[in-house]
Order: sequence, then C-alpha cells, then structure tokens
Amino acid sequence: MPVSVLIVEDEPAILELVAVNLEHAGFAPLRAESAEQALALLRTALPDVALVDWMLPGQSGLALARRLRADARTRELPIIFLTARSEESDKVAALDAGADDYVTKPFSPRELVARIRALLRRRAPQLGGLPVEVAGLRLDPAAHEVRGGGRPLELSPTEFRLLHFLMTHANRVHSRARLLDAVWGADAALEERTVDVHVRRLRQALSATGHEALLETVRGSGYRLREPAAP
Ligand code: CA
Repeated sequence: MPVSVLIVEDEPAILELVAVNLEHAGFAPLRAESAEQALALLRTALPDVALVDWMLPGQSGLALARRLRADARTRELPIIFLTARSEESDKVAALDAGADDYVTKPFSPRELVARIRALLRRRAPQLGGLPVEVAGLRLDPAAHEVRGGGRPLELSPTEFRLLHFLMTHANRVHSRARLLDAVWGADAALEERTVDVHVRRLRQALSATGHEALLETVRGSGYRLREPAAP
C-alpha cells in the first residue's frame, strides 16, 4: 500500500505541483483545497501524513492543525506546514499548533519529499522497511518474515501488519478503532470485533515460540504489545 499524503492547499497550481511530485516519488496524494474539504475527506480516509498550507480560505491551516490534534482519530497524524511565512514567531505558532515540521515557500519538491520521508521515519516507523525486534521476536518487513527466537513463524498478511504496527508502537495501549484505522485503513467498514479475531489468531501464531504473552489485552481500552523491562 503506498503511503498516502493529504495536501491541503488552496492554490490549484501549487496543489497540482505538489501532488504530481509526490506521485512520482511513490506516494498516493489526496487533495483538499480548504480545511473544510480536508475535514470532510478525513471522515472516510486516514492519510499517513498531512501537508497543510497556512493561509487558506475559511479556516486557517493553523486552526485545522489544532482540530486534528484535538481529535483522537487524527491526533497522531504527522503534519508538515507549507507556507510563505518565514518569521520565527510563525514557526513557533505552527509547532505549538501541533505541526511536526515546517517548509517555507517557495520550496523544492525534492526537499519536500525528503522532509516527508524523514518525518515518516521519525513518526511512523511501521511505514519504513527496517526490521524491528522485541524480546526475541523479530519482524523483517522487507523479507516479510517473522521469527521468534530465530524460528520462523507463519502469519497471514493481516496478522503481519497488525504485529508490525504493535511492535513499532510498543508499550502503548491502542483502542480497537485506532487499530482498525492503522492496520485495515479508515475506509474499511469493519466492526471492532474484527480486531479481536485477528489478535486471537496472532496470539495463536506467536504461541509457537512462546511470544503470545507479549500481546496484552487492556480491559476496556484495547491492546498493547509490552516490551519486558530489561533485566
Ligand atoms: Ca494559501
């Protein structure tokens, strides 16, 4: 699945320039010309990162960023501001509103792509291809392989994605709704018990090497992959 990038930009020429460059870089752009359009779009899709223009008709990009941070569903969406403003105080305001990075217009599309990649490495390591290891359980996204104590484990593609997300976001409790968004995609019309079914299958697969206890149920909240404290 390509990494999806929401672009919120009211100038059609810039919107198109950014979208075309992102497509060439292998991303899937989603276009919105206002904060209102972006919010409507976010009801049915959850992108991996958002590029938000500061000056927009209607609600500003700053107000949009605050709303995204205030909503549990979009709280962790990485945001990069695109803006002609370059004053120090504006940068501070953008970062205060929850932006992760800030690109000043005019920018080079190549720089923008590099910034997106850097942000995703920091904020969404499950989208990168690096192996991750927790308590002897090792998942290698490039090889599409999971090993427990060196022994290969058999996982379906969904259980693989679920484990990858949990391992790259270990020690945090994730609600079923959050897992549906992150693993299945927000547009999937699925019930929350779908998550329970796949967690059960994942535990079963992990039990082959005794790693099932890493995956905890947090009553009333969701699931967590807990990294045991170092001895
Ligand atoms: Ca603008």
